[in-house]
Amino acid sequence: MPGEIFVLRNAGNTCTHAEGSMVGSLEFCTGKLGSRLVMVLGHTKCGAIVGATQTYLAMKDKAEKGSPGSALEGLLTDLAGVAEKAATKLGKDATVEQIAAYAVKVNVFQTMDFLLKFSQPLRDAVSSGKVDLQGGIYDLETGKVEFLGRSPQHGALLASSKSSLPPSMDLALGSAFVRTPQDPPMAPEAALKLMKEGNERFAHGNTLAGKFDGQMRKALATIGQAPHTAIVGCADSRVPLELVFDVLPGDVFVMRNAGNTVTQARGSVVGSLEFCTAALKTRLVLVLGHSACGAIKGATATYLKGGAGGGPFKGALEGLLAGLSAVAETAHKELGSKASEKEIADHAVKVNVFNTINNLIKGSTDIRDKVKSGQVEIQGGIYDLDSGRVQWLGRSPEQGKLLSS
Ligand SMILES: [Zn+2]
Repeated sequence: MPGEIFVLRNAGNTCTHAEGSMVGSLEFCTGKLGSRLVMVLGHTKCGAIVGATQTYLAMKDKAEKGSPGSALEGLLTDLAGVAEKAATKLGKDATVEQIAAYAVKVNVFQTMDFLLKFSQPLRDAVSSGKVDLQGGIYDLETGKVEFLGRSPQHGALLASSKSSLPPSMDLALGSAFVRTPQDPPMAPEAALKLMKEGNERFAHGNTLAGKFDGQMRKALATIGQAPHTAIVGCADSRVPLELVFDVLPGDVFVMRNAGNTVTQARGSVVGSLEFCTAALKTRLVLVLGHSACGAIKGATATYLKGGAGGGPFKGALEGLLAGLSAVAETAHKELGSKASEKEIADHAVKVNVFNTINNLIKGSTDIRDKVKSGQVEIQGGIYDLDSGRVQWLGRSPEQGKLLSS
């Protein structure tokens, strides 16, 4: 009847984060509501487990003796680990169906063990006998539950001290994790969050990305790349993008030129971005300018001397500076006639970021369609050479107008 059971559900009846909603909800239920029995219930033919088993077996074939969980995030990481345990237990002659069926049981115990390992309130309640933790498997065909009792690890886990770091958090710290096409494309909001966190670590000098080993290199080489963010940045040697965002190989797809600019709709920057957002399924594009940009300074000086005109240009550099001097002109107009050369150049950095975003939307039907449908998000930013921090600018103010025109 309603009111009798407090039910927590997710794909694969798993727990992946000690601070996640499953653990928190259970602590609430056993603490505040006083429930005394916690039942972890798997079921036969569980799609999440079958999927994770197939993923695990496919990875095992490709990466030989590679660690199967290393390229999978969150839920799938844990479930692939379960499939691995089941496969190891059953031996090499086991079929996918046999492994997946046994993995359902392994997974029930793993979820129970997770709760005993990582939740202090639950450990206390179970130790004192106030709460009991039991497992079961529901059979889709017969409708019967096979009651499994306590986890075989129950006693040992309660006797040992609480572990502080669940495997998923270990991965979040970058210990053995590279992105590959086996990861789903990352939502722009999630990618932006990673970029912001990475930049904070860089600015604080607490970087993590140095830990890149042969195993990770092998995963990228054999499985491929699936970068979560594409960056259009400046060629300036003081703005090394992978370092600034504390990312690993495989994380970001980077295009750089002097002044992080797009001057040709048919040029290599636009073409590379079309490739990245289509073939590699990257969903976040970041256009990153930086303070004290030499290309912008040069273009501002050129503009103030009377402009570069419309060509013909003596060399490619003149063409580049001419494109940027239009940016300086806009910056000058926005600031008013009293602005100094330095003020114009500083403001032009921001104008230029938006100008590049606008040129990407205007120059490529492909990118424009993806932005319009929400598949791709283009954000701007300015890296500060002094602080090491990125000022996040959001979308171009022109985006709405450009997409509707
Ligand atoms: Zn620059």
